Amino acid sequence: GCDNPEELKLQQTLGRIKHKIVVMSGKGGVGKSTVATNIAVALSLAGKKVGLLDVDVHGPSLPRMLSLKGQKPHMGDRTMEPVPWSKNLSVMSLGFLLEDDRQAVIWRGPVKMGLIKQFVEDVMWGELDYLVVDCPPGTGDEPLSTLQTLGPTAMGVIVTTPQGVAIDDVRRSVSFVGEVGNRVLGIIENMSGFACPNCGTIHEIFKSGGGEALAKEAGVQFLGRIPLDPEVANSGDEGYPYLKVHRDTITGKALEQIIQPM
Ligand code: ADP
Repeated sequence: GCDNPEELKLQQTLGRIKHKIVVMSGKGGVGKSTVATNIAVALSLAGKKVGLLDVDVHGPSLPRMLSLKGQKPHMGDRTMEPVPWSKNLSVMSLGFLLEDDRQAVIWRGPVKMGLIKQFVEDVMWGELDYLVVDCPPGTGDEPLSTLQTLGPTAMGVIVTTPQGVAIDDVRRSVSFVGEVGNRVLGIIENMSGFACPNCGTIHEIFKSGGGEALAKEAGVQFLGRIPLDPEVANSGDEGYPYLKVHRDTITGKALEQIIQPM
């Protein structure tokens, strides 16, 4: 309860954040971090105050994707300042605290769980319109701890690719979020068709639409599809989010569309 000073501190931090969006996926490699980053950037470009938190202990990728590698958050007495990316967007990642990113994989379960809590509790986010959280993949202890720490008002956004196997993972993720007592805001189908840089249209590769069909089946919103776009991969590798430079493309519009219901 609130007699506990740590619990009180957590509740105060959460009380200053209007919306909590937890970006999840059934497995790794579907573009969860890319989507989380671009959602955060899209919201910040729309004038919102945004925090982006990377609790993916398996391989924190946000520092690289945002050219913030090597940055160190200011540390206070049991507090940390998030690293600013722009006036409206500040970032915290386990990657900032590790000398060597690969160290992440040796962290034991209970340590990881405490860490997720600490990242929400001890980071001086201040007043935020949105906290976007890049959650570890799957439906194990880490996503559970993430949702429990953020509380029942945090909303899950599930990223999938169009293939059948990925869709089964999403079904599991949707029921997981419900079982924990949170709401799924919606499903995003990433790598859905190929955005051809030459002709500017989308070519289907895998059978698309699985994400949308599942959203309907599960009674949750379909937030949109993002095509496979070589520029998205380049931007991540080169350390700038896609939307920072490309807003007027098929992919850029798809990414900005996604934040409408948020
Ligand atoms: P996850 O967080 O799910 O493990 P990432 O966001 O790290 O996945 O993405 C995995 C790889 O796929 C990265 O190299 C990323 O740049 C690339 N990627 C993600 N989405 C797209 C897309 N729509 N088009 C092209 N490449 C993408």
